[in-house]
Amino acid sequence: MDESGFAPRRRSTPVEVGGVVVGGGRPIVVQSMTNTDTADADATAIQVVRLAHAGSELVRVTVNSEAAAAAVPEIVRKVRGLGAAVPIVGDFHYNGHKLLSEYPDAARALDKYRINPGNVGPGRHHDDHFTAIVRVAIDNGKPVRIGVNWGSLDQAVLAELMDSNARLAEPLDARAVMIEAMVESAVRSAELAEATGLGHDRIILSAKVSGVRDLAAVYRRLAARGDYALHLGLTEAGMGMKGTVASAAGLSLLLAEGIGDTIRVSITPEPGGDRTEEVAVAQQVLQSLGLRAFVPQVSSCPGCGRTTSIYFQELARDIQAYLRDQMPLWREDHPGVEELRVAVMGCVVNGPGESKHADIGISLPGTFEDPVAPVFIDGALDRTLRGDHIADEFKAILDGYVERRFPAVGAAR
Ligand code: SF4
Repeated sequence: MDESGFAPRRRSTPVEVGGVVVGGGRPIVVQSMTNTDTADADATAIQVVRLAHAGSELVRVTVNSEAAAAAVPEIVRKVRGLGAAVPIVGDFHYNGHKLLSEYPDAARALDKYRINPGNVGPGRHHDDHFTAIVRVAIDNGKPVRIGVNWGSLDQAVLAELMDSNARLAEPLDARAVMIEAMVESAVRSAELAEATGLGHDRIILSAKVSGVRDLAAVYRRLAARGDYALHLGLTEAGMGMKGTVASAAGLSLLLAEGIGDTIRVSITPEPGGDRTEEVAVAQQVLQSLGLRAFVPQVSSCPGCGRTTSIYFQELARDIQAYLRDQMPLWREDHPGVEELRVAVMGCVVNGPGESKHADIGISLPGTFEDPVAPVFIDGALDRTLRGDHIADEFKAILDGYVERRFPAVGAAR
């Protein structure tokens, strides 16, 4: 454990998914899922590319029908044609065994299959359908994610554990049994997959719930049950602030304990909203925890009675948007720029101090202060801006700093 209480990453078996390695101590992978109709190859391919451009390192598409399975190879072709190499994962429920065997081109085109052991079929069909999917994965050299979800928990496992619990002298409460059933469902399914012939290094596990404390309880137990790579996510997290905060809280608890090799933020977008929001939130969780860096971070104060206009808020928002907009270019040309720290502050109280802690910072004038904005670079006062063009001038200073501090690839450092 380090001085901030973070545990080292849990040791997990690395799993290669279409060229991206999940687990084995590799950087935690951000993933996302489309919400288009997969049978609409154009719309799905465009959304996959958008998610990839936003930073999603794996993208999952639902494969729920013959039309969807038939569209998969075309989607993959279109995505590659648009220049995105992101691995594409198929999400299967109920009919995955049929679709994967009847649409071999889809089985080949996908980089991973997600199987929900609670949704592969009831009774004696359960194991047959599950192993049928696993055999397709083996034949095609693909990994699988065994993704348990408490909304579709394997009822046979739950009933078995409920029965044994009822026979205990001091039975556990229903929540504890449910948590145990989720872990058992994931682990038993992984054991069945391996017994069928799938490699240990072809299996990722997840066990998602929608409550933060339940999530922590499930994953702690799952992490203790073996070294499978783990995919984390709070399922059905909700909309807007609730979904974002709950996801951040749940993921942070586990990531700080070293648990988790890949994450997804399952927030409900606004109608017509931007699906890439879930990628930005996932990246921000990892970056806020200091686990990965994706985009320069802007520190800005909340503002208070010392700021009499909204100019400071507008500047903080503009600079944040500017940095994000520049990243597609900067990422290529200025490696390391994602570590840049910028401060945009509202007045002299904490402005100069916070700006000095950043790589580059600006302290705007508060009420009754001279209408000047000192700019600090690498901890020292560099210049003072004034007048009506402070935002543009500060962006130009930022550009120059990035050029110098993160020279273009091939240029001398
Ligand atoms: S830096 Fe100034 S404007 Fe910002 S919160 Fe502190 S006192 Fe208020």
